[in-house]
Amino acid sequence: MKKTITVYLLLCILLTLTACGGGKKQNEPKESTPPISDQTDTAVQIIDAAETDFQKNFHLAQEDAFNRGCMSEAGYYFVGNGYVSYVEKDTLRAVILCGKPECLHQDQTCNAYLGNVQHITFYEGRLYYAAAQEQGGFGSGDWSLYAMNADGTQKQKVQSLRSPNDGFISLPTQFLIHNGLVLFKSNRENILCAPLGADLAAADMVKVNDLEPNEDAALANLELWYLWADGETFYCFGNPKADQFRNALYAYRPQIKELTQVWKVPDSAETGTWDTSDVSVNGWYLGDGILFYFLSGNGLYAFDIAREETTKITDVTQSERTGTAVFDGEYAYINNEENDMLFVYGLTGEYLGAYDYSETVSQGVGQESGSGVAKIIGSDDKLVFLCAQNLSGMSQDGISLGYSFYYLPKADLRTGAGSFQKIELPK
Ligand SMILES: [Zn+2]
Repeated sequence: MKKTITVYLLLCILLTLTACGGGKKQNEPKESTPPISDQTDTAVQIIDAAETDFQKNFHLAQEDAFNRGCMSEAGYYFVGNGYVSYVEKDTLRAVILCGKPECLHQDQTCNAYLGNVQHITFYEGRLYYAAAQEQGGFGSGDWSLYAMNADGTQKQKVQSLRSPNDGFISLPTQFLIHNGLVLFKSNRENILCAPLGADLAAADMVKVNDLEPNEDAALANLELWYLWADGETFYCFGNPKADQFRNALYAYRPQIKELTQVWKVPDSAETGTWDTSDVSVNGWYLGDGILFYFLSGNGLYAFDIAREETTKITDVTQSERTGTAVFDGEYAYINNEENDMLFVYGLTGEYLGAYDYSETVSQGVGQESGSGVAKIIGSDDKLVFLCAQNLSGMSQDGISLGYSFYYLPKADLRTGAGSFQKIELPK
């Protein structure tokens, strides 16, 4: 587990370095893919919504680098390759989220330009993202929350999330917005909660992690925490060092400002062994007070937090149906990244079918066939979305990564039919 964590962190550092060193290159506009038809930006009506819930179904991948989508009442938003696009729900027509008639969408003056932003979310009619001040460069760690209107206009800074030079090697900071509050990772990876728009100084401490802002110390102590919300409660899912990096789930109730551990990784003596026995689960999701999780090579489980009761949903023991699972409250998607296959189960245990997505991870520049990465990143009642990460360029400054988005209708998925179709984004 530690090795996996280290490799993951090194990758993050590498990507962060790339983002800074080769940032300019990465953000240069690429050869643009023509949209499906020749509609103009103004042809799409963008409607605001007033949702105050955390969009958990667009935070499925449990990796902040893949929180690249979100939705409003009328459409979906996807960020990749430096720009944000809007996709109309009814037609799946995509436009760049700019709205400036004279704009060529080729530099930072474009409304749709978000640079290296990798996580967007939608809250009460506005699009939110976290970004660092570019001039600080590697190690500055100065992260803030920004917002823009649903049509891409009026970008503004909302609040600071992480002070300059007190961050942890400048990794992008995670955040989520729920019930008027922002839960986020701040200085030294401490997890804080503050009213939306409030000063960093006014934030409540949710969980003290106090990582040293020093690379070696950080590697030796790394706890990865993923933030979540469900109902009135906020959650942190991670691997506390104090418990030998075994997965644990903490619940935070903002009304009483109290953090409690509500679950820990099961004991293989009771469940039987799995790929990462007694240390970590292979994917999880929390909805309506139920924690769903996958033990690769063993099965799918549900844990009722209030009743403290575990149920085994189904055995999943076939050797090809291993990997990491993503859940959306309706289905479990087991991602076998070795074979580029997804295996879909209903959450009452029925097996629905398999999907080969190797095409989507074979579209990089000079990249070996099938060697990209793809994950389910979002879903709603009609569609499920896959995001593929491929090499988009290699230069002396480093590598740059490109992102493509695909969808599958849930009507097809229910019968094990269909295949992932590409959403043609204008950038
Ligand atoms: Zn533009």
